[in-house]
Amino acid sequence: MSLFRDDGIVLRTQKLGEADRIITLLTRGHGRVRAVARGVRRTKSKFGAGLEPFSHADVQFFARGSDLVGRSLPLCTQTEIISPYGNGIVTDYARYTAGTAMLETAERFTENEGEPAVQQYLLLIGALRTLSRGEHEPNLILDAFLLRSLAVNGYAPSFEDCAKCGIHGPNRHFSVAAGGVVCGDCRVGGSVVPSSEAIALLSALLTGDWGYADACEARHVREGSGLVSAYLHWHLERGLRSLRYVEK
Ligand SMILES: [Zn+2]
Repeated sequence: MSLFRDDGIVLRTQKLGEADRIITLLTRGHGRVRAVARGVRRTKSKFGAGLEPFSHADVQFFARGSDLVGRSLPLCTQTEIISPYGNGIVTDYARYTAGTAMLETAERFTENEGEPAVQQYLLLIGALRTLSRGEHEPNLILDAFLLRSLAVNGYAPSFEDCAKCGIHGPNRHFSVAAGGVVCGDCRVGGSVVPSSEAIALLSALLTGDWGYADACEARHVREGSGLVSAYLHWHLERGLRSLRYVEK
């Protein structure tokens, strides 16, 4: 039996029995962790108050095995809310939908429980802080988070040099399967020709050039979001397929 202490972002909560909850967190040091919070749904219980999606919490875990991923889930034995980011997110529809997509993406990119994912954790906490303060348009914060999440997980898209042959850009064709922009010679079926403004926006979001991103026209923001969404789903679908293959 062992005790662990870590801080993390609550990704989601599920009911368990009459009064308990299963809390899923993306922690700083232990990656994604699921743990049981006992009694949190009793109205008079102060324990676990604030263990809601988007909250940044300091949690003490009590695990029966030698690590956090044993046969039974660890228990949350002490919790302290560090930053209730949800307060600045759930009251605004655009922030809420962007934030929810971030939590789901962070969970999808941390398939293996207990495996440290510190870069993904840092991206998530930074994005939620920015979102809760309303520092930029929610969909821009979301797209920046998605692009950077893809990058830290090994799927960095190219927005300048050809993703296949490396020839220096700008290149006009964009292909999710090829990994970003491609030159005329490397162009494959299914590639599209986005506006140069949309490509420049995605490049700015990936590198953190917020001055450029904030000044973009709405139509280019929408176009860029469509490309990010297509790119993300292509990689997540492949991830799922390879996971099913492994389980067989
Ligand atoms: Zn090429």
